[in-house]
Amino acid sequence: MFSLEEIITEIEKKTKFSRNQLYQKIKKKHEELSGLVSMEGAGHLVARDIGINLLTTKKRALKIKDIVSGMKHIKLKARVIQTSEIREFDRKGGKKGRVCNLILTDGTGEIRLPLWDKQVGMIEENKIKVDDVVEIKNVFAKDSVFGGVELGLPRLSRIEKIGDDESIPHRVVVSGTGFKRVQIKDLKEGNYEIRGNLVQVFNINPLFQTCPECRAKVDKTENGFVCSKHGKVEPQNNMIISGIVDDGTASIRSVFFRDQAKTVTGLDPSVLSNMSQEEAINLIKENALGNEFIIRGRIQKNKIFDTLEVVVNRVENLDIEKESNKIINEINALSE
Ligand SMILES: [Zn+2]
Repeated sequence: MFSLEEIITEIEKKTKFSRNQLYQKIKKKHEELSGLVSMEGAGHLVARDIGINLLTTKKRALKIKDIVSGMKHIKLKARVIQTSEIREFDRKGGKKGRVCNLILTDGTGEIRLPLWDKQVGMIEENKIKVDDVVEIKNVFAKDSVFGGVELGLPRLSRIEKIGDDESIPHRVVVSGTGFKRVQIKDLKEGNYEIRGNLVQVFNINPLFQTCPECRAKVDKTENGFVCSKHGKVEPQNNMIISGIVDDGTASIRSVFFRDQAKTVTGLDPSVLSNMSQEEAINLIKENALGNEFIIRGRIQKNKIFDTLEVVVNRVENLDIEKESNKIINEINALSE
């Protein structure tokens, strides 16, 4: 990865900004993201905002928390913490395609990596499985349709199992990931953790259908579901819940996608697929309303309502024992 100095030099060469102006811009971006990315990561974002691509030349070893959409030639060492089932689908033109999603962590964050077709063989033959440490070369990062960033592995790039490396944790390590716990009244844009109750669920359709191949939303037509890229597909059902979370200091609009919606409701999307919207929303309310959750996510401005909302990255049901221990540890740390 470029050092901060190198990033500033690169941008300076190609723009009229002074070093100091660039440094201030990067610092501001870094603060906006409340420590989610390093200063170098913020530097890349500033470069991207100005329209300069720093990302094409060097192969860069990165931490997951520093990966932003648009980066290319990323080199990454991480642990596999989840593998999805291998799904088959029909490609346009009749050929079969296959996909399997990996979730990776290096302790600083989690990121999804879909494997396609031949790449899936690594999973199928058990060459890569949960808990393995892998090295991936030459991947790129793009916006996920579900919010956040995901990786893409070009056809000629490699994912390789390497020897176990104890320095790579088995899950995201909370401290240092930038998800600082705050009260809702103190939230601003960035990444935060909040604890609160779901006090309202909006009456919007909780199901949406996506293409199993590219995961874009599909359109419902007379002939079934159609992806703009892959033609007629057997779509996947995904759940989305939008509601209000309140922690006693304030409340915030919260959006839960897919696994997060599943955790919040304890429901599988297939359960909802034969219900009317009203029935589905009622069932969701019965299961989730009033429950207390710990939520980590990206706080962003909702452009329509001009208020903050949280796009949830991870939600957990409140575990009283864990919470008590957390508070006790904090108190102990203060008295030391
Ligand atoms: Zn598609």
